[in-house]
Amino acid sequence: MKTRIASHRGGTLEYGDSTPSGFAATARMAVEEVEFDVHPTADGAIVVHHDATLDRTTDTAGVIAEMTLAQVKRARIDYSPAEAPLTLEELCAIFRPSPVDFRCEIKSGSDRRPYADFVPKVVACLERGAMLERTGFSSFDYETLCELKAASGRPVLWLVSPDVLYHLGLRAICDLARAIGVPELALSARLARAEEAAFIRGEGLDFGVWGAHDRATLRNAFGIGAKVLTSDRPSLALLCRDAFLAEEGRP
Ligand code: FE
Repeated sequence: MKTRIASHRGGTLEYGDSTPSGFAATARMAVEEVEFDVHPTADGAIVVHHDATLDRTTDTAGVIAEMTLAQVKRARIDYSPAEAPLTLEELCAIFRPSPVDFRCEIKSGSDRRPYADFVPKVVACLERGAMLERTGFSSFDYETLCELKAASGRPVLWLVSPDVLYHLGLRAICDLARAIGVPELALSARLARAEEAAFIRGEGLDFGVWGAHDRATLRNAFGIGAKVLTSDRPSLALLCRDAFLAEEGRP
């Protein structure tokens, strides 16, 4: 099995965080997936952005869910050529002609609570954009995972945070995942070892990693057979995967 590569937020360390140019570049890469995060605006639009606020990565301060789309569009993302955050519709338009599929992460609000009635709106938007059938969903949030299972028949992946891993332990996490019908877990690339991979597979679940941004963590993720990894450096991930497959004598 060849590990799938997801360009994380459009390749943050290569193109800036969730930038239109990063997503456009990703659409032309030989990666399998593009990972992105979504938030609602006050007037019903869906914005592709990592944080619940614009503060950290743009020239503008504000909570996206309290802003109109017009206000969000006046922001300029740092480390991009003066670009504004994309809407989910715009992201669909970029990727419709590309073979790169969607890995859509549903984020929580600035209060760390899930947005009310947000999941069905994201699903409907992806359907209108003709990308729902090419979307896998992910979330760190348990309630959101349950909502995703109810709202679409699409694959859902549980992003397991280091705190959840530490406090719950893998056995309880696997039990919970099976109980809500989530077939796939992803651990932080720094914490994923062959031991965890084998345990998750032994529980009948798929195993992946998030946050593989350097050669050592990428090599480890390929070596332990992650089904999918997210990387801020998709170009490096592709080079490392080619090198790993050559080492293994695989094409
Ligand atoms: Fe994400």
